Formats: sequence, C-alpha cells, structure tokens
Amino acid sequence: MVADWIQKLLILQDRDTRCDSIRRQLDDIPREIQKEEVAIGQLEFALAEKENGLKALEVRRLELEGDVAEAEEHIIKYKTQQMQVKKNEEFTALENEIKNLQSSISDLEDKELQVLEDIELYQSELEKLSQLTKEQKHTLEAHIQLLKDNFTSFQSELKAAGEAVEACAKEVDESVLQQYKYVKGQVKRPPVVVQLEDGRCQGCHLKVSGDIESTTRRGKELVRCDSCGRILYFDR
Ligand SMILES: [Zn+2]
Repeated sequence: MVADWIQKLLILQDRDTRCDSIRRQLDDIPREIQKEEVAIGQLEFALAEKENGLKALEVRRLELEGDVAEAEEHIIKYKTQQMQVKKNEEFTALENEIKNLQSSISDLEDKELQVLEDIELYQSELEKLSQLTKEQKHTLEAHIQLLKDNFTSFQSELKAAGEAVEACAKEVDESVLQQYKYVKGQVKRPPVVVQLEDGRCQGCHLKVSGDIESTTRRGKELVRCDSCGRILYFDR
C-alpha cells in the first residue's frame, strides 16, 4: 500500500515514461530514414560509376576505329602517290611509310580487340550490378516506407499518451507536480519517483538519512533522496 497521492504520482510517472519512450522513437526515425537514403545514394553512385566506365570504353573504341580509318586513308593516299613518283628512293620512302602505317593499324586493332573484351566484361558486370542495385533499393525503399508509417502511428500514439499524462496530471497536487517536473529535469536517468527499500533509495542505491527514512515511511509529504534527489516513497 502506498499513500494515495503517491499512487497518483506513480501513474503519472508511468504514463510520462511512455510518452518519453514514444518521443525517443519518433526522434530516431528521421535519422534512420536519412541513413537509408544515404545507402540508396551510394548504390546509385556505384551504378553510375560502372555506367560511366562503360561509356568511356565505348568512346575509346570509337577513337581506335577512327585512328584505323585515318591510317587506312593515308595508305591509299601513299599508294596513289607511289604510282606518280619517278624516283626509286621516293617510291621506297612511301613504301616504308605504308609499312609503318600497316604495323600501327595492326597495333590499333589489337587494342580495339582488348577494348571490345573489356566492354563485354563491363556489360555483364553492369547487368548484374543493375539487378542487385534494383533489389537492394527496393528493400531500402520498403524500409523507408515502414519508417514513415511508424512515424505517423507514433505521432498519434504520442498524442493519445500526452492526453493520458495531462488527464492524470490534473489529479496530482500542483506543488507535487512542479517538484516532479523539477526533479525530472535534474536526474540523469529515470525513474524520478523511486521506492525506499531497507533504507536505500532504489534510484541510486545509497542509504538515506534516518530523518528522510522516517518521513518517507509516514508518506505524508514529498521527500527526496539526499544523494540523488529522486522523489522517494515507501510501500508498506
Ligand atoms: Zn537516491
């Protein structure tokens, strides 16, 4: 049995604690949503990187094709010139140019083959990554939606819990209510109202003075622990 006014204070504390717990969960949600949004951004970035890598390879392939075409044009030009030259050494010089160009065409074509292999590899990697990204994004987006739904339901829970606190706060004596609020602001962690057991405060577990113990036992007035400041009550 506890004194009637203590009983009311304990109910208030219980409802108030519930409010605080809902509030904490509400506070956490935007952070959690942001975390998931960052994760989505990272997935999209990785995919875009891969796409850009593939685009760069395509550009490289076109460049190599252009270089080959250009070298081939030069060969045609030199061959035409060969038909018009009169001196042997001029003919040989052109012949050397043509050989050089043919050898560089062969190098360019080797490079082109390598780029084509890389493109194929990139395409298959991109396909896998794109599928994986799609799945992971879907999971993250579903979680974000769940968090948003929770936010809405926590908001209405908080409203109801807040009304419950107000309803029982009306039952508590004004000076007791003020003390409760004051102590709540002072203590590092809940609860604010704690039981006195074997002369020890159940908030800080330290022994209280004999005076405090006997006043708490009487249950007539509000008493606070002389160590941690919590409000004490005695259950006989
Ligand atoms: Zn204490």
